[in-house]
Amino acid sequence: ELEVALKVVIVGDGGVGKSSMIQRYCRGTFTRDYKKTIGVDFLERQIEIDGEEVRLMLWDTAGQEEFDAITKAYYRGAHACVLAFSTTDRDSFLALHSWKLKVENECGEIPTIIVQNKIDLMDQCVVGPDEAELVSRALGCRLMRASVKEDVNVGAVFRALAARCLAD
Ligand code: GDP
Ligand code: MG
Repeated sequence: ELEVALKVVIVGDGGVGKSSMIQRYCRGTFTRDYKKTIGVDFLERQIEIDGEEVRLMLWDTAGQEEFDAITKAYYRGAHACVLAFSTTDRDSFLALHSWKLKVENECGEIPTIIVQNKIDLMDQCVVGPDEAELVSRALGCRLMRASVKEDVNVGAVFRALAARCLAD
């Protein structure tokens, strides 16, 4: 039986929780300081969708996003994308559009989910619920809200993406 392997790229401004999300999903851990990333290009996790084995390879950017220096190798062959921003960082929300364009330029149209991370910090929220919905709709993406810290919706994001890829 053939196993499906999906490359998923996780993009968004520095500090929104991308590395934490990958570590949470693939290793089940969360740390406050996750700057010095994993030292490998990606982590992986195997799941089952409708009886099909799916191997998800989650690619991390190792901090280059802050220098606008993400290489083509990072995007090459990606099947799906997580576009992440932080509940407490308005600039990261405003940057969604340009991240979407970057991915589109390298990968074409691939299944993409916008993730509003850090919803455990709603008391410090700087993005209105309506504008988040509006921007997501304008970019043609589903919006999901998550807390990597509290482990809310992280698994759901990757299951939804994998299911989308299998349906295509
Ligand atoms: P990256 O630059 O996008 O890879 O972001 P990191 O994964 O390095 O996370 C940046 C900081 O945000 C770290 O201190 C994380 O511990 C923290 N962080 C990540 N996710 C969450 C979350 O859901 N809630 C809270 N409160 N902090 C988070
Ligand atoms: Mg990182």
